[in-house]
Amino acid sequence: MSLAFDHVTLGQRVLFGSGKAAENVAAEAARLGAARVMVIASDRESGIAKAVTAGIEVALVHDDVAMHVPVETAERARAAAKEAGVDLMVCVGGGSTTGLAKAVALTTGLPIVAVPTTYAGSEATNVWGLTAGARKTTGVDDRVLPVTVVYDAALTVTLPVDLSVASGLNGLAHCIDSLWAPRADPINAAMAAEGIRALASGLPAIGAEPSALAGREQALYGAYLSAVAFASAGSGMHHKICHVLGGTFNLPHAQTHATVLPYVLAFNAPAAPEAAARIAAAFGAEDALEGLQALRKKLDAPRALADYGFTEDGIAEAVAVALPAIPESNPRSVTEASLAAILRAALTGADPKTLAYELD
Ligand code: NAD
Repeated sequence: MSLAFDHVTLGQRVLFGSGKAAENVAAEAARLGAARVMVIASDRESGIAKAVTAGIEVALVHDDVAMHVPVETAERARAAAKEAGVDLMVCVGGGSTTGLAKAVALTTGLPIVAVPTTYAGSEATNVWGLTAGARKTTGVDDRVLPVTVVYDAALTVTLPVDLSVASGLNGLAHCIDSLWAPRADPINAAMAAEGIRALASGLPAIGAEPSALAGREQALYGAYLSAVAFASAGSGMHHKICHVLGGTFNLPHAQTHATVLPYVLAFNAPAAPEAAARIAAAFGAEDALEGLQALRKKLDAPRALADYGFTEDGIAEAVAVALPAIPESNPRSVTEASLAAILRAALTGADPKTLAYELD
């Protein structure tokens, strides 16, 4: 069979090494000739940020960070960067912190060195997100892609196991959704499959020994691959649904992804046999959904959107906002009724296999 595709992998330096973040951040700041560094880190990550930036001169520490980047939060950070005459941002934290640095880069063009402390993967994408009122807007702009990512698994040992699991499953969702996203191709599919393998081996190791580095390194490596695959392939059905649940209903990002993923997989897999076979193989399972569910069981993963504040009343609005955003290239066409059934099942944590039969 002949191969023909257009592929883009974003250009970025990746410095990976446990216990090496401070050294790598200092080397990058020097390489970039930075004189006025703005450190962005939430209150909770201030200790980690201090240690990571110990080798550089810091002009400004900004800790006003909020999930889903409200526009007001972005405006305050942009004003602070301008006032301090910043020439480099070093962001230390999860996707919310990286997201704030990206919002500043979007309007200022300032470069970012990202030091992630979760497995969300925002550091490896050119996707930005801002929330105004109850609507989250995302966009793609190469200016927001960090020039360098400094990965240090030692920084993630403080991430509690339940958050590590939810965050890692957010990474897994990037991988799985990439396989049927609008720009899916053999290169991003290969990265996605290796990302699934790495996350499926790393996350149980974190559960077994949360302070050990080996599992955390696998999870970070998988998170990076997942995000590169996602940035290259684009947002698929799963991301479009979770984006609405986060932006309109303010549900927590990682837990929402972790909860919704099996339902989208159950829905799409029968119409995407190649993707399903790839996912199954990456899990080392006979079947994609069985592989995912076995991992989720081992991890005691988030299982119902009701646990995060979503209610039956929200389903109609979520369907109305999410449905038009689902890519036409989705392997299975999605109707109001099928999307409502997916959300209803995710609301209560119903068995995704039952959903698959129901919608067959
Ligand atoms: P987060 O950044 O909000 O972090 C979750 C919680 O974990 C916070 O309370 C944080 O303080 C804490 N935390 C982070 N690192 C820690 C550590 N090492 N030890 C202890 N606590 C720690 O959550 P997230 O899931 O990483 O990111 C979610 C946000 O990222 C959302 O806004 C989402 O839209 C965005 N995101 C964007 C992209 C993209 O490509 N643009 C990709 C993924 C996620």
